[in-house]
Amino acid sequence: MKTILDFDFLNKTALIRVDFNVPLDSNLEVIDNTRILSAKPTILKILKDGGSCVLMSHLGRPKGIQASLSLTNIVSEIEKTLERKITFAADCIGVETEKIVNNIKPGEIVLLENLRFYSEETDGNEDFAEKLSKLGQVYVNDAFGAAHRKHSSTAVITKFFKNKKYLGLLLHKEVHAIEKVLKTGEKPIIAVLGGAKVSSKITIINNILEKVDEIILGGGMAYTFIKAKGGEIGNSICENDKLDLALEVISKAKANNVILHLPTDVIAADDFCNNANTKELNIFNIPKGWQGLDIGPNSRKSFADAIINAKTILWNGPMGVFEMTNFANGTKAVGEAIKAATQKGAFSLVGGGDSVSAVKEFGLADDVSYVSTGGGAMLESLEGKTLPGIAALQ
Ligand code: AMP
Repeated sequence: MKTILDFDFLNKTALIRVDFNVPLDSNLEVIDNTRILSAKPTILKILKDGGSCVLMSHLGRPKGIQASLSLTNIVSEIEKTLERKITFAADCIGVETEKIVNNIKPGEIVLLENLRFYSEETDGNEDFAEKLSKLGQVYVNDAFGAAHRKHSSTAVITKFFKNKKYLGLLLHKEVHAIEKVLKTGEKPIIAVLGGAKVSSKITIINNILEKVDEIILGGGMAYTFIKAKGGEIGNSICENDKLDLALEVISKAKANNVILHLPTDVIAADDFCNNANTKELNIFNIPKGWQGLDIGPNSRKSFADAIINAKTILWNGPMGVFEMTNFANGTKAVGEAIKAATQKGAFSLVGGGDSVSAVKEFGLADDVSYVSTGGGAMLESLEGKTLPGIAALQ
């Protein structure tokens, strides 16, 4: 696969699929501009070459045209972040938009209206993809957050660009980070997995059991494992129909010589709220009326000891209900241990939803090697799937 570094964009118009699906508050102000910032290096490289950029993205999940999800709402944030003026096209396809794009000069940027104002986009409609393809001479995909979707602008469109299709720098970084963990990672490789449910992580667990040396399983899903092993878990979260599956994971880890770490102690609470009464308990002996909402001090220490010795680290999912300050210490301890291992030279990748929010909240985002920008796309990559948006560039 070729990246934009393999091409000189002088006098060329690049049609770039970006992921500007940024969170907005009730005043339609951008809350977090990370995704815009992450696409900046790709855009600047093309402009620096003497090319021009036509940016296309979705925003939210509109049903038809919806003013609150128009990309006009984020134009000023994009201009601020890119430190460039942009021209807005009020439609993402059509004669008027083609006119705007045909008048574009080297160094200029055009932003198209929300792709998902057309249901054809998510349908992966080929005619729609062909209409979009008229808006650039070269196609670039830099939208990792949408790369797991087989949509017109991410996967179908490449058909119209033959060998003029490139990975943007962000997409390349994401793919490279995943490879560095799952394919070329320096041993020992450790995966730290947490989150609420075994069912939503089982495909990832099964895939990485073949690739890593050690796995830490924390968070809500650990209780299904402890119950399967005969523990009393009180009112802790548990998927009773997944007990056999948990035992299978335990045997598969043994068969693959993977060291499986489970918590040994917990911070238990008598209610699911931050000011509940709490006590430290052995995870195998949680009485009725109490639920484990975080890992305990012994588990924090043993998990940290395992992490500090790793050379490659993957982290997905919190160790407890970290949204409540009294149950955030386990997640924080894991984050701190990953920071320390990274300082010692390990490669660390944090990806997939809640662990990304956790590292940002604890101020650790700059202390790990890479924080992924794509939730679903990262999870599917960790499941071992080839993402349609990436396959289309091959
Ligand atoms: P996931 O989206 O599967 O990664 O799960 C993340 C969610 O799991 C977070 O919102 C956590 O609050 C929740 N979680 C983590 N540990 C526990 C626990 N012990 N009991 C209940 N929920 C938990």
